[in-house]
Amino acid sequence: VGRLAIAVHGGAGSRSRPEAPAEEDVQAALLRALEAGRTTLEAGEAALDAVVSAVAVLEDDPAFNAGRGSVLTEAGTVEMDAAVMRGSDRAVGAVAAVRRVRRPVELAHALLGRGRDAILCGDAAERLARDLELETVPEETLVVERQRERWRRRSASPTLGTVGAVARDSRGGLAAATSTGGRAGQAVGRIGDSPIPGAGTWADSTTCAVSCTGDGEAIIRAACAHEVHARVRAGATPAEAAAAATAELARFDGTGGLIALGANGELAMPFTTQAMSRGWWEGAGRPGTAIG
Ligand code: ASP
Repeated sequence: VGRLAIAVHGGAGSRSRPEAPAEEDVQAALLRALEAGRTTLEAGEAALDAVVSAVAVLEDDPAFNAGRGSVLTEAGTVEMDAAVMRGSDRAVGAVAAVRRVRRPVELAHALLGRGRDAILCGDAAERLARDLELETVPEETLVVERQRERWRRRSASPTLGTVGAVARDSRGGLAAATSTGGRAGQAVGRIGDSPIPGAGTWADSTTCAVSCTGDGEAIIRAACAHEVHARVRAGATPAEAAAAATAELARFDGTGGLIALGANGELAMPFTTQAMSRGWWEGAGRPGTAIG
């Protein structure tokens, strides 16, 4: 019992790069994602379903580096990572380096539902998507001109764009989801932090749900999402734990941010980058968004 809550992020990075989408569009999309998650929670569904529905909205929106709108690898291809985690039993579903899946978060969710493999990559993951009749598309469908242009200029500057969500349902269940096209210009085959449980994504209903964004290699080395969990388990508040885990990224030459939702619905959204687009809604309150 207790209050429903959901938060989303649209990535950490620097603001107002030439390749950045308009901030009004980003904030409008974050509000739509919150609305999708909120509707799910208010219908009595689980936190896991809420984070998947919120992230799917952002994957569909070309303003974000996830699903359609993903950045391109050094070879000019799309390779996306996504993960979901359910806090009640720590069940995980994650996919890595998938190229022709319209909404990678839905594939990660389906993998969790099957209850066999926790992480599946590449062609095998795409085959599963087709077997389950999830939407697969020609790779070109996922490429937007903004990212093609960025690739032509070989611009690997970090911008906002990875997406994630954390939610708390009416039974006190927590869940987290993260989805990304990775890093602009990344090596073919590179897998970031997002689909790695404990790095970019983590949920345990007794402590917190976390979705990270930023320098993937630093997030992996810091076990950033799990670090928030470990600190909460040791007695820190979600705000203290989230701030400390985010600050630790500097030890590994990285910057980033995260959204964390505690077992009682306490929300923290720290970042060490110039900006992190984010949105939040807590039962009875009004939804809010911010970027800087
Ligand atoms: N963390 C993501 C990655 O390294 C990128 C990001 O959050 O912008 O794949």
